Amino acid sequence: MTQPITIAGGGLAGLSLGIALRRQDIPVVIHEAGSYPRHRVCGEFICGLKAGTAETLGIDDCLADALTCRTTGWFVAGRRIWERELPTPALGISRHRLDQRLVERFTALGGELRTGSRLRPEESSAPGTVWATGRRAAKSARWIGLKFHCSDFELEDDLELHLGVGGYMGVSRIEGGKVNICGLFRQRPNAGVLKTELPLVYMRASRLDNLAARVEASTLDFSSIVGISRLSYRPAPADRERFSLGDRLGLIPPFTGDGMAMAFQGAALAAGPLADYAHGRLAWPQALDTAHRGLRSAFGRRRNVARLLHPLILRPAAQPFLATAAKQGLLPFNFLFNLTH
Ligand SMILES: Cc1cc2nc3c(=O)[nH]c(=O)nc-3n(C[C@H](O)[C@H](O)[C@H](O)COP(=O)(O)OP(=O)(O)OC[C@H]3O[C@@H](n4cnc5c(N)ncnc54)[C@H](O)[C@@H]3O)c2cc1C
Repeated sequence: MTQPITIAGGGLAGLSLGIALRRQDIPVVIHEAGSYPRHRVCGEFICGLKAGTAETLGIDDCLADALTCRTTGWFVAGRRIWERELPTPALGISRHRLDQRLVERFTALGGELRTGSRLRPEESSAPGTVWATGRRAAKSARWIGLKFHCSDFELEDDLELHLGVGGYMGVSRIEGGKVNICGLFRQRPNAGVLKTELPLVYMRASRLDNLAARVEASTLDFSSIVGISRLSYRPAPADRERFSLGDRLGLIPPFTGDGMAMAFQGAALAAGPLADYAHGRLAWPQALDTAHRGLRSAFGRRRNVARLLHPLILRPAAQPFLATAAKQGLLPFNFLFNLTH
């Protein structure tokens, strides 16, 4: 008899894993605490997705019409300090659209999706249960993520990265002639600030005035404004008892644009041992161990390098140095890109 798989969390990791397993006729139930479609805090810029991953998972056509992004420019105080062609093109598509497509694919393949269903932690270590619940909120963490969409916004590069003081924002194209504007900031006291005002308040407080002025001159889609707080970029505590995937294994700072690719690649890596467990070829502890080893070796280095670079790009003292190094062609971009993707 084929063993069923239960997945907690219907984000990119959970849904794409569910699709890959359903393609092998394995019974899968996904419990998702929220609902679809919805806006999520995400730069919606998929960078460094390894060739063949989307096909292996069976989600390539969900990404087929994503916009191709080839160039990136970095800005300090509204001035472009550096521009470059990306070593590999990235994809731009909103999570509102992508997650909905994955849901439709999963259910069309006969997967069972239970929305508004939050799996309890004590249920998560039962054999056959995968924990793909995204970031773990940390009480002491001081990062806030904010995102929204705008129309009538002219881009200078396919991805503009604006470095501010204690925060940065990326701007890139998504479908429908819109751009996604998403940033990570050190959390500030914001009592009394309306959710719809938060992005501009944070942009101005982080000295991203030039970008804020461009946003004000564009058409902001207020319904797309979302935020999440208490983000932590410290390594996630090791949890060998649970089968974890995606952001639950630890966050990678968003300037890499790599978190979504890692969610997909992690799902593709995990699908093999999980299918072996479901078909009785591997016991659960062996499936868990095989997946843990594969995921650690695929992602350990890129998370560590990105964590080291993260504070550098936020430090006002480091930014003039970055600008000078960039002007003189001394930024080892391709080398760092390869280490973080
Ligand atoms: C500010 C910011 C910008 C980013 N920009 C980019 C970018 O440009 N490019 C990129 O590649 N990555 C980016 N990322 C990272 C990317 O969004 C994540 O890496 C990716 O979404 C991880 O997918 P996931 O499936 O692990 O988690 P998620 O997509 O977060 O999904 C987890 C799901 O689990 C559900 N859930 C939680 N707890 C439970 C429970 N107990 N039971 C049931 N369901 C539960 C949640 O509702 C959620 O739907 C960014 C992140 C941030 C914070």
